[in-house]
Amino acid sequence: MEIKKLTELIEKSNYITALTGAGISTLSGIPDFRGGNNPIWNRYPQDKVFNPLYFKESPQMFFDFLREILNKEYQPNIAHFFLKFLEEKKKLKAIITQNIDGLHKLAGSKNVYELHGSIFSSHCLKCGQAYNYEEFLKKLFKEKVVSCKCSGVIKPDIVFFGEMLPPEDLNMAIYNASHSDLMLVIGTSLVVQPAAFMPMYTLNNGGNIVLINRAETYIDDRAVLKFDDIEDVFKKLSEYYEIGEG
Ligand code: ZN
Repeated sequence: MEIKKLTELIEKSNYITALTGAGISTLSGIPDFRGGNNPIWNRYPQDKVFNPLYFKESPQMFFDFLREILNKEYQPNIAHFFLKFLEEKKKLKAIITQNIDGLHKLAGSKNVYELHGSIFSSHCLKCGQAYNYEEFLKKLFKEKVVSCKCSGVIKPDIVFFGEMLPPEDLNMAIYNASHSDLMLVIGTSLVVQPAAFMPMYTLNNGGNIVLINRAETYIDDRAVLKFDDIEDVFKKLSEYYEIGEG
Protein backbone atom coordinates (compact mmCIF):
# COMPACT_ATOMS: atom_id res chain seq x y z
CA MET A 1 0.00 0.00 0.00
CA GLU A 2 1.20 3.50 -0.87
CA ILE A 3 0.59 4.89 2.64
CA LYS A 4 2.75 2.12 4.09
CA LYS A 5 5.54 3.19 1.76
CA LEU A 6 5.12 6.75 2.95
CA THR A 7 5.34 5.78 6.62
CA GLU A 8 8.48 3.75 5.89
CA LEU A 9 9.97 6.75 4.15
CA ILE A 10 9.13 8.98 7.13
CA GLU A 11 10.66 6.45 9.52
CA LYS A 12 13.98 6.25 7.70
CA SER A 13 14.25 10.02 7.13
CA ASN A 14 15.79 12.33 9.70
CA TYR A 15 15.59 15.73 8.06
CA ILE A 16 12.10 16.18 6.68
CA THR A 17 10.80 19.47 5.36
CA ALA A 18 7.29 20.26 4.19
CA LEU A 19 6.56 22.66 1.39
CA THR A 20 2.94 23.79 1.53
CA GLY A 21 0.62 25.80 -0.68
CA ALA A 22 -3.03 26.79 -0.91
CA GLY A 23 -4.22 23.17 -1.14
CA ILE A 24 -3.46 22.47 2.51
CA SER A 25 -5.61 25.41 3.63
CA THR A 26 -8.64 24.65 1.46
CA LEU A 27 -9.33 21.82 3.95
CA SER A 28 -9.81 24.59 6.52
CA GLY A 29 -12.31 26.32 4.26
CA ILE A 30 -9.94 28.98 2.97
CA PRO A 31 -10.48 29.58 -0.75
CA ASP A 32 -7.51 28.97 -3.02
CA PHE A 33 -6.51 32.62 -3.37
CA ARG A 34 -4.33 31.98 -6.39
CA GLY A 35 -6.78 29.60 -8.05
CA GLY A 36 -7.79 31.10 -11.37
CA ASN A 37 -11.39 29.94 -11.34
CA ASN A 38 -12.44 31.38 -7.99
CA PRO A 39 -15.40 33.77 -8.60
CA ILE A 40 -13.99 36.13 -5.97
CA TRP A 41 -11.48 37.36 -8.54
CA ASN A 42 -14.26 38.80 -10.69
CA ARG A 43 -14.89 41.32 -7.95
CA TYR A 44 -11.30 41.64 -6.77
CA PRO A 45 -8.95 41.25 -9.72
CA GLN A 46 -5.69 39.80 -8.41
CA ASP A 47 -3.57 42.19 -10.43
CA LYS A 48 -5.21 45.02 -8.48
CA VAL A 49 -5.81 43.57 -5.06
CA PHE A 50 -2.18 42.48 -4.53
CA ASN A 51 -0.65 45.33 -6.47
CA PRO A 52 1.43 47.68 -4.28
CA LEU A 53 0.94 50.66 -6.61
CA TYR A 54 -2.82 50.19 -6.79
CA PHE A 55 -2.89 49.71 -3.02
CA LYS A 56 -1.12 53.02 -2.54
CA GLU A 57 -3.70 54.88 -4.61
CA SER A 58 -6.89 53.04 -3.62
CA PRO A 59 -6.32 50.78 -0.62
CA GLN A 60 -10.00 50.16 0.03
CA MET A 61 -10.35 47.30 -2.46
CA PHE A 62 -7.72 45.29 -0.60
CA PHE A 63 -9.49 45.85 2.72
CA ASP A 64 -12.91 45.00 1.21
CA PHE A 65 -11.34 41.78 0.00
CA LEU A 66 -9.90 41.00 3.45
CA ARG A 67 -13.24 41.73 5.13
CA GLU A 68 -14.89 39.20 2.87
CA ILE A 69 -12.22 36.55 3.44
CA LEU A 70 -11.72 37.12 7.18
CA ASN A 71 -15.37 37.37 8.24
CA LYS A 72 -15.07 33.91 9.75
CA GLU A 73 -12.45 32.20 11.82
CA TYR A 74 -10.26 29.55 10.26
CA GLN A 75 -8.75 26.66 12.17
CA PRO A 76 -5.80 24.44 11.32
CA ASN A 77 -6.77 21.02 9.98
CA ILE A 78 -5.55 17.44 10.26
CA ALA A 79 -2.66 18.08 7.84
CA HIS A 80 -1.36 21.09 9.81
CA PHE A 81 -1.57 19.10 13.04
CA PHE A 82 0.23 16.10 11.59
CA LEU A 83 3.15 18.31 10.53
CA LYS A 84 3.30 19.73 14.04
CA PHE A 85 3.41 16.14 15.35
CA LEU A 86 6.32 15.31 13.00
CA GLU A 87 8.20 18.36 14.29
CA GLU A 88 7.69 17.29 17.90
CA LYS A 89 8.94 13.86 16.91
CA LYS A 90 12.14 15.64 15.74
CA LYS A 91 11.64 14.28 12.25
CA LEU A 92 10.44 17.44 10.58
CA LYS A 93 12.90 20.33 10.66
CA ALA A 94 11.04 23.03 8.79
CA ILE A 95 7.84 24.03 7.06
CA ILE A 96 8.21 26.26 4.04
CA THR A 97 4.89 27.78 3.08
CA GLN A 98 3.42 30.02 0.43
CA ASN A 99 0.33 30.54 2.57
CA ILE A 100 -0.31 33.81 4.37
CA ASP A 101 -3.00 32.44 6.69
CA GLY A 102 -0.70 31.62 9.60
CA LEU A 103 -2.39 28.23 10.17
CA HIS A 104 0.89 26.31 10.62
CA LYS A 105 1.88 28.54 13.53
CA LEU A 106 -1.66 28.39 14.89
CA ALA A 107 -1.38 24.58 14.86
CA GLY A 108 1.75 24.92 17.01
CA SER A 109 4.53 24.36 14.48
CA LYS A 110 7.69 26.27 15.42
CA ASN A 111 10.03 26.35 12.44
CA VAL A 112 7.76 27.87 9.83
CA TYR A 113 9.14 29.98 6.99
CA GLU A 114 6.46 32.07 5.35
CA LEU A 115 7.72 33.01 1.90
CA HIS A 116 4.79 35.33 1.21
CA GLY A 117 4.55 36.72 4.72
CA SER A 118 1.54 36.42 6.99
CA ILE A 119 -1.58 38.36 7.92
CA PHE A 120 -0.74 37.84 11.59
CA SER A 121 1.33 41.00 11.77
CA SER A 122 0.87 44.40 10.17
CA HIS A 123 2.72 47.68 9.93
CA CYS A 124 1.84 51.30 9.35
CA LEU A 125 3.33 52.31 6.02
CA LYS A 126 4.01 55.83 7.32
CA CYS A 127 5.42 55.58 10.85
CA GLY A 128 6.23 51.86 10.98
CA GLN A 129 4.09 51.11 14.04
CA ALA A 130 3.49 47.36 14.37
CA TYR A 131 0.02 45.90 14.93
CA ASN A 132 -0.86 42.37 15.96
CA TYR A 133 -3.62 40.36 14.31
CA GLU A 134 -6.21 41.10 16.96
CA GLU A 135 -5.69 44.86 16.76
CA PHE A 136 -5.71 44.71 12.97
CA LEU A 137 -8.94 42.66 12.80
CA LYS A 138 -10.71 44.99 15.20
CA LYS A 139 -9.79 47.94 13.02
CA LEU A 140 -10.60 46.08 9.79
CA PHE A 141 -14.25 45.71 10.71
CA LYS A 142 -14.51 49.30 11.96
CA GLU A 143 -12.61 51.31 9.36
CA LYS A 144 -13.01 51.29 5.59
CA VAL A 145 -9.29 51.80 5.15
CA VAL A 146 -7.36 50.51 8.14
CA SER A 147 -5.31 53.42 9.43
CA CYS A 148 -2.82 54.26 12.13
CA LYS A 149 -2.99 57.06 14.71
CA CYS A 150 -0.57 58.95 12.45
CA SER A 151 -3.12 58.62 9.56
CA GLY A 152 -0.84 56.27 7.62
CA VAL A 153 -2.37 53.14 6.07
CA ILE A 154 -1.74 49.85 7.88
CA LYS A 155 -0.73 46.94 5.65
CA PRO A 156 -0.50 43.30 6.73
CA ASP A 157 3.01 41.89 6.31
CA ILE A 158 2.16 39.91 3.21
CA VAL A 159 4.11 40.02 -0.01
CA PHE A 160 2.35 41.79 -2.87
CA PHE A 161 3.29 41.19 -6.51
CA GLY A 162 6.77 42.44 -7.25
CA GLU A 163 7.62 43.00 -3.60
CA MET A 164 10.70 41.52 -2.00
CA LEU A 165 10.30 38.30 -0.04
CA PRO A 166 11.26 38.31 3.63
CA PRO A 167 15.01 37.53 3.24
CA GLU A 168 15.35 35.61 6.51
CA ASP A 169 12.48 33.26 5.60
CA LEU A 170 13.83 32.74 2.10
CA ASN A 171 17.36 31.97 3.32
CA MET A 172 16.13 29.52 5.94
CA ALA A 173 13.85 27.87 3.38
CA ILE A 174 16.75 27.27 1.02
CA TYR A 175 19.00 26.10 3.86
CA ASN A 176 16.47 23.54 5.04
CA ALA A 177 15.48 22.36 1.58
CA SER A 178 19.14 21.72 0.74
CA HIS A 179 19.65 19.67 3.92
CA SER A 180 16.53 17.55 3.57
CA ASP A 181 16.46 13.82 3.01
CA LEU A 182 12.70 13.99 2.45
CA MET A 183 10.48 16.82 1.27
CA LEU A 184 6.70 16.55 1.49
CA VAL A 185 5.21 18.82 -1.16
CA ILE A 186 1.62 19.48 -0.07
CA GLY A 187 -1.08 21.37 -1.95
CA THR A 188 1.08 23.32 -4.33
CA SER A 189 1.42 22.88 -8.07
CA LEU A 190 4.90 24.41 -7.96
CA VAL A 191 4.34 27.25 -10.38
CA VAL A 192 5.18 30.27 -8.21
CA GLN A 193 8.85 31.00 -7.62
CA PRO A 194 10.87 30.75 -5.48
CA ALA A 195 8.82 28.05 -3.72
CA ALA A 196 8.62 26.08 -6.96
CA PHE A 197 12.36 25.56 -6.95
CA MET A 198 12.65 24.28 -3.34
CA PRO A 199 12.29 20.56 -4.22
CA MET A 200 15.30 20.90 -6.53
CA TYR A 201 17.50 21.73 -3.52
CA THR A 202 16.34 18.53 -1.84
CA LEU A 203 16.83 16.45 -4.99
CA ASN A 204 20.34 17.87 -5.37
CA ASN A 205 21.02 16.80 -1.79
CA GLY A 206 20.04 13.24 -2.73
CA GLY A 207 16.74 13.56 -0.86
CA ASN A 208 13.34 12.15 -1.77
CA ILE A 209 10.28 14.05 -2.90
CA VAL A 210 6.72 13.01 -2.04
CA LEU A 211 3.96 14.93 -3.81
CA ILE A 212 0.54 15.31 -2.23
CA ASN A 213 -1.32 17.43 -4.71
CA ARG A 214 -4.19 16.99 -7.12
CA ALA A 215 -2.72 18.80 -10.08
CA GLU A 216 0.38 17.80 -11.99
CA THR A 217 3.71 19.42 -11.23
CA TYR A 218 6.93 19.73 -13.19
CA ILE A 219 8.66 17.20 -10.94
CA ASP A 220 6.02 14.42 -10.96
CA ASP A 221 8.43 12.02 -12.62
CA ARG A 222 11.12 12.68 -9.99
CA ALA A 223 8.88 12.04 -6.99
CA VAL A 224 9.12 8.66 -5.24
CA LEU A 225 5.44 8.79 -4.30
CA LYS A 226 2.48 10.82 -5.47
CA PHE A 227 -0.93 11.22 -3.82
CA ASP A 228 -4.01 13.17 -4.93
CA ASP A 229 -6.08 13.61 -1.81
CA ILE A 230 -4.53 15.61 1.04
CA GLU A 231 -7.27 14.84 3.54
CA ASP A 232 -7.15 11.13 2.84
CA VAL A 233 -3.35 10.95 3.21
CA PHE A 234 -3.25 12.80 6.51
CA LYS A 235 -6.21 10.89 7.94
CA LYS A 236 -4.40 7.65 7.22
CA LEU A 237 -1.09 8.96 8.58
CA SER A 238 -2.80 10.22 11.74
CA GLU A 239 -4.45 6.83 12.20
CA TYR A 240 -1.14 5.06 11.65
CA TYR A 241 0.61 7.21 14.28
CA GLU A 242 -2.49 7.13 16.50
CA ILE A 243 -2.82 10.86 16.88
CA GLY A 244 -5.99 12.92 17.09
CA GLU A 245 -6.47 16.50 15.95
CA GLY A 246 -4.76 18.97 18.25
ZN1 ZN B 1 1.52 55.25 11.71
